[in-house]
Amino acid sequence: MPSEYPYLIDQYQRMHTSLRVSVTDACNIRCRYCMPEKVHGFLPRDRLLDFESIARVVSVLGRAGIEKVRLTGGEPLMRPDLPRLVGMLSRIVSIRQLAMTTNGMMLAESIDALVASGLTHVNISLDTLREKGFQQISRRDGLEQVLSGIAAAVRSPLQVRLNALVLRGINLEDVIPLVRFAREQGVVIRFIEFMPLDADRAWSESQVVSGEELRGIVEQEFGELRPVVSADLSQPSRDFQFPDGKGGIGFIDPVSQPFCRDCNRLRLTADGKFRNCLFGRQEWDVRGPVMRGASDAEIHRIAMDCVHAKFASHGISDRGFSPPERAMYQIGG
Ligand code: SAM
Ligand code: SF4
Repeated sequence: MPSEYPYLIDQYQRMHTSLRVSVTDACNIRCRYCMPEKVHGFLPRDRLLDFESIARVVSVLGRAGIEKVRLTGGEPLMRPDLPRLVGMLSRIVSIRQLAMTTNGMMLAESIDALVASGLTHVNISLDTLREKGFQQISRRDGLEQVLSGIAAAVRSPLQVRLNALVLRGINLEDVIPLVRFAREQGVVIRFIEFMPLDADRAWSESQVVSGEELRGIVEQEFGELRPVVSADLSQPSRDFQFPDGKGGIGFIDPVSQPFCRDCNRLRLTADGKFRNCLFGRQEWDVRGPVMRGASDAEIHRIAMDCVHAKFASHGISDRGFSPPERAMYQIGG
C-alpha cells in the first residue's frame, strides 16, 4: 500500500519500518554494562517528549512506513502512566506491533493495564538466576521482582521473550540455568553481545562472549541447535530450535557479526531526538520543532534527514572507533 509520506529509505536502500522510542533515561537498577554506579541526575520532566508529541511523531512516521514500535529506556516502566501512552500508540492504525523492553522489576503490577491498553510484545532482560549475580550485575537487589514480572508476563496474552547479556568473568556460569529456565517457561531466550555503550567506558573485547561461543556452550548441554529461517531479514537475531522442539533460542551478535546491512531501525530518544544508529554521533531534534508547532510534513522531513545520514555500518571494529557520547540508558536500548 502506498504511504502518505515517502518511505524512510536511506542511501543504502534500507527501508526503516521499526521505531524504538525511549520514554525515559531513568532506571531503578544500575546494570554495569549500561549505567554508571552513580548517576548525576536524569532528564528533568520538562525536557522529556510528552505523550501527545510521541504519539504525533509515531503517527506521522506510521504514514511513512513505520509498522513496529518498541518502548524502551532507561526503564520504560519508570515513566509514570505508561499504559496511557501505550493506549495512544495502539490506536495508530499503521502500527501493527507495539512492544516494550523492560527489566521486569515493575512489570507484575502494570501488566494488566499494559495488556488492556494494547501492548502486544514484551522482552524482559534477565542475565542471571542468582541473587548474588543479580546484585553484581545490576548493583541492586531485585531478582525476585523480576521473576514475578516474568511469571505475570508468561500468564498474560503478550508474546514474551527473555534477553540475556553475558559478561566474561561475571555470569558465564548462568548460561545453562538461564536456557533451562526459559525452556521451562516456554519462552524464547536471546543472548545479546556486550557492546561498547556502557556509561563507565569499561568495555573491552575480552569481556565480550560471542554468540558463537555461547552457542557452543548451549549445544554441549542440549545437543545440536537447528537454525530457524526467518522471512524477516532485518530482525537481528539468529534463531534456533532445540533438538526436542521445546522453547527457542537466539543470538544477537552486533560485535562479532554486525547486521547493519539489513538494519531497519530508527530511534527516538526520551528528550525527543531522532538517531539513526546506537553508535551514531549525530542527533536530529524533533521536540523543539514539535513544541514550536511544526507541521506533519516538517516532522517527516526531520526523520528523513536523519535516515539519509545513516552510515553503512556501526564501525565498532574500525580503527579509531570511539563510543558515542551518550550511554545505552540515555539513547534507549
Ligand atoms: N531497562 C530495560 C531493560 O533493561 O530491558 C530497557 C532498556 S535496556 C538499555 C535494553 C536492553 O539493552 C537490555 O536488554 C540490556 O541488556 C541491553 N543493553 C544494555 N547495555 C548494553 C550493552 N552495553 N551492550 C549490549 N546490550 C546492552
Ligand atoms: Fe536499567 Fe535496562 Fe540499563 Fe539495566 S540495561 S541499567 S535495567 S536501562
